Amino acid sequence: MNSGPERTPPRSTSARLALLAVGLLSLHCASADRPRAAAGSTRVADAVAPSAAQPVRTLRVRVYADAEHRAQVLHWERGFESWLQRASAAVREPLGVTFTLESARAWDRRGSDGSQGSKGSPGSDASLEPVLDALEALDAGEDVDLVVGLVSAPSAFSESQHELGFARVLGRHCVLRGISGAVPVAARRHLEVSALLHEWAHTLGAFHVREARGWMAPKYDAAQSGFEPRTRALLEVGLRHLPGARVEVEAQRAWARELRTVLEGMVGPAWEGPERDFLLAWTERARAASVVLGPEGTPKGLTPSERQQLAEVIALEKAGQAEGAARALEPLAARHPQDERVQLLACYLAVHLTPALTATRERCEQAITRFPGEPSLRMNVALLHLHAGRFDAAQDSLLAARRNLAAQADPEPSLWADLAGLFLRAHCVTWAEEAAARAPGLPASASVLEQAARLRRQVALPEGPDAITATPRPAGVEASREGPLVRAVFDIEALLHAGSSGPARERITALSQTYPGSPSVALVQCELHLLQGRLGPARSACERVLAVREDAVQAHLLLGVLATNTRAHTRARAHLERVIALEPSRTEAWHLLAREYRGTRHLRVLQARYRERFSRDLP
Ligand SMILES: [Zn+2]
Repeated sequence: MNSGPERTPPRSTSARLALLAVGLLSLHCASADRPRAAAGSTRVADAVAPSAAQPVRTLRVRVYADAEHRAQVLHWERGFESWLQRASAAVREPLGVTFTLESARAWDRRGSDGSQGSKGSPGSDASLEPVLDALEALDAGEDVDLVVGLVSAPSAFSESQHELGFARVLGRHCVLRGISGAVPVAARRHLEVSALLHEWAHTLGAFHVREARGWMAPKYDAAQSGFEPRTRALLEVGLRHLPGARVEVEAQRAWARELRTVLEGMVGPAWEGPERDFLLAWTERARAASVVLGPEGTPKGLTPSERQQLAEVIALEKAGQAEGAARALEPLAARHPQDERVQLLACYLAVHLTPALTATRERCEQAITRFPGEPSLRMNVALLHLHAGRFDAAQDSLLAARRNLAAQADPEPSLWADLAGLFLRAHCVTWAEEAAARAPGLPASASVLEQAARLRRQVALPEGPDAITATPRPAGVEASREGPLVRAVFDIEALLHAGSSGPARERITALSQTYPGSPSVALVQCELHLLQGRLGPARSACERVLAVREDAVQAHLLLGVLATNTRAHTRARAHLERVIALEPSRTEAWHLLAREYRGTRHLRVLQARYRERFSRDLP
């Protein structure tokens, strides 16, 4: 009798774990067994005998009935209440438990999996699992001890087996099928009590016992009349610690410790198997965890009201009320350190509101240790580093984010575009372009590509390696060294503009050793020579730049200035025209050109072009 319906060993930790209800029932069996069933029912009735010594614990039960169940069972609420009373009678003496009906509610559930679902997958428990999921989503039931969903009786008792119910092991929900009115009353009552107690026991961690006469046998048997002693011990452990053990870490640990002791005593062929292994693993995790775990052995998720709060936080953030969002999120962030969405949002808000605070960095780095594969966290931390001018650290964070994104099966394209924008802020031009290329068609990507091209022209940075052959360009720089080079060029230009030629020269010398042959270095060399009046060396340095990047706009400007000073008008005009063609916003080039064109017919044309572009007169 025990061979058939063993099923659903725990899948992955993330998959919702559910174990099958009472096993299989055949109508032939049930009707043939009518006398036995009646006898069983009598035994259940006998158990009502009150026991004065036992303190009775009342468990509150909320029940939902779907439309089909309501249609099939006249006065279903009253029916369920007496069902509960009969179940109470069966456990009051051995366990000191009595069930009481908290409320009975109609359940407007779509579909009719309850009756027809098994058509598609005969003999499978798959049809009740989604029903259980739906019930959990409908009502977390945190204010009661058990939530029961009633669905229709199997429509066809034709030949074989149908499961009677399905429970969330270590949870607080179960689904029960009605029993067809065709089954004689006494047999039906015995079946109902057995199914209810079997499923309820699953929620306390009881598992199937390969022993036909106990309620935890994997198959229903009309002779079943109670829990065998070790299952009873397991249930008593649960009753001692629940419901606190579902919400408090310490209580859950205590439950897990005692549960483990009981499980360790359950050795032998009747007990061993994947169900016991799962429970042992769960107790192990619960004892080690610093947060409350849910039935799956993963940290307990948000309650429905907390999910609502989170939705409100997101709405506030979207409405531009980041501070209000951060305030509203704080209690959730404290209660749910293991919730990825909550922690991600908390890090994001902190980065945008208080980037300079140590607490912000700590919060995000802590989240990274919990969710090391999450690219957004790395990007937020990179943003903190960028704010603080820690470019090397930012670069490392961005590379980690890129690894995370690359590891995702189907990452959001906008994340690649975000990453591209951050790489660009860190002056990692090639990496910015590569990331933008992974999110083609997004405006953010197009903008990054445009800015990257502009930055390359500005600092005379050769293109990155050929995308197809991966061969480096002449005078090119490895992607990892682009950022430091670009920043050094900016620093040196700032020194030159501030008149600090000495320090600028030192930096240039050092840079030329680190990046020999780089046109970017030649560019700042050209500028230094020009400022110090060494026109020959300036010209040859700038021409070296243009030999590698003809579109190096600054080299054209410097050569234009140089030519203007030496009255080489044709050359000056050519370079300056090239500057405004490449970078129309360089107003100094317009002014120099205007001086070059003074007294010629070209001046009017230049003024007209200026007016057209800037909607004002060239000063
Ligand atoms: Zn079961």
